[in-house]
Amino acid sequence: MKRIDQMYVNGQFVTPHGTETFDLISPVTNEKTGEVVLGDETDTRLAIAAAKEAFKTFRKTTVEERMAYLQQLHDAVSKREDELVKVMVEEYGGTLQFCKASVKNAMDSFTNMIQVLRNFEFEKPVGESRVRLESLGVVGIITPWNASNSFICNKFATAVAAGCTVVVKPSEMSAAQTQLLLECFHEAGLPKGVFNLVNGLGAVVGAELTSHPDIAKISFTGSTITGKSIAKGAVETMKRVTLELGGKSPNIILDDADLEKAIPMAVFGAYMNSGQACIAPTRLLVPENKLEAVNALAKLAVQQVQVGDPMDANTHVGPLVSVRQFERVQDYIQLGQEEGAELLAGGTGKPEGLESGNFVKATIFTNVRNHMRIAQEEIFGPVLSIIPYKTEEEAIAIANDTSYGLAAYISSADSEHANRVAAQIDAGRVMINAFKHDPLAPFGGFKQSGIGREYGVYGLETYLEPKTILE
Ligand code: NDP
Repeated sequence: MKRIDQMYVNGQFVTPHGTETFDLISPVTNEKTGEVVLGDETDTRLAIAAAKEAFKTFRKTTVEERMAYLQQLHDAVSKREDELVKVMVEEYGGTLQFCKASVKNAMDSFTNMIQVLRNFEFEKPVGESRVRLESLGVVGIITPWNASNSFICNKFATAVAAGCTVVVKPSEMSAAQTQLLLECFHEAGLPKGVFNLVNGLGAVVGAELTSHPDIAKISFTGSTITGKSIAKGAVETMKRVTLELGGKSPNIILDDADLEKAIPMAVFGAYMNSGQACIAPTRLLVPENKLEAVNALAKLAVQQVQVGDPMDANTHVGPLVSVRQFERVQDYIQLGQEEGAELLAGGTGKPEGLESGNFVKATIFTNVRNHMRIAQEEIFGPVLSIIPYKTEEEAIAIANDTSYGLAAYISSADSEHANRVAAQIDAGRVMINAFKHDPLAPFGGFKQSGIGREYGVYGLETYLEPKTILE
């Protein structure tokens, strides 16, 4: 039984002042595997004070020094790649395929930021002035459980590149993954106080970070509802915020698309990270006159989707992270039927032989109408909605008829055609005939999918404050 009873403050593992504990539960067996001691407001203030002190000198580091630190971080994390993947699969239940990709993204965050720094101008002439982009200060980083280490590494790498120091509050459900990552960061040997971490509840540690006057910015990934509460709290002290929130991404199959290719890709794509992905293409928009062919192809594709042991390299959908998440997804599958959507595959209940864990059947609804709640709300599980459209104009209207705007996908045989449609979609990232990630390009949402952008130059700029100097 694991007991995680230390946080990381001022370059040291220390015992928290908080004494409450949170149980770590395996998503595969629902048995307790360990517990984590939760920090409190006192712990958070201590971590903030350490980051504030460290900022005084870290802000003065040169770009070369920061590049060297980023390389040290990359090397320290890379050394333990296999362990990081294993603990992520065990703790979170993400599939081996997904966890490998996620840990790779985490490691690459550091080298990507080195690449960004190589060409980044921290000072440039504008009008008759010189504009200097200065380190913002102490950044509060708040992350969820669905790709924990990758979120922490990307946000921390950007902070280091900008000369900022950080206090991280991860999801307590990711405590074992975080512990291993902390050991890597410790080994990297950055100046003390640059990285600090407090395990604890959002309502306690997260709220303290949000309200504390010495935090200059919050970088948050998670649900839209929590993002709104952070934004409201942050405005009191005029903190900068970067909010990477939920999505309900449309996947538009244009009338000239090759269905035999596009539909299986759409089905597997919707189940990325077992459906627990903010960019998952969960609304599949198809021409009404091709609905029957689409349904047949989707049914064939879903039969190839393997739900089961996340450690098995062939598994596509693992268990959901928690019983709470499982129940939430079950409620949505029930709701879809009550709303009148047609169940094409899957349904409520657990797949045969997988009763002990939080496994959900790979589910597809067809003939879904966009006003239904299953088409409007983020389900965060392996549930795909097929929505028919009559004209391309209607497809674009349906795609944009959502409060979200994180990602969108388009399939077409004609690149110009797809690009014409892409220009009319309200989303921060549009993928044409592909499911790709570009870690140097901006990532973030339109509308209620968030505020600001992460990654690359755009991400770096949000950790900097422009200062105009006139002589
Ligand atoms: P939350 O948004 O509730 O949690 C994300 C992080 O914010 C956690 O570390 C959480 O801590 C913290 N937090 C919670 N309340 C506060 C607060 N008042 N102030 C500061 N920080 C806070 O997401 P959940 O993990 O509960 O997941 C719920 C839903 O959110 C999912 O079903 C999904 O729809 C969406 N989601 C979206 C993600 C994305 O990538 N866009 C990622 C994860 C979830 P704590 O865990 O202690 O509550």
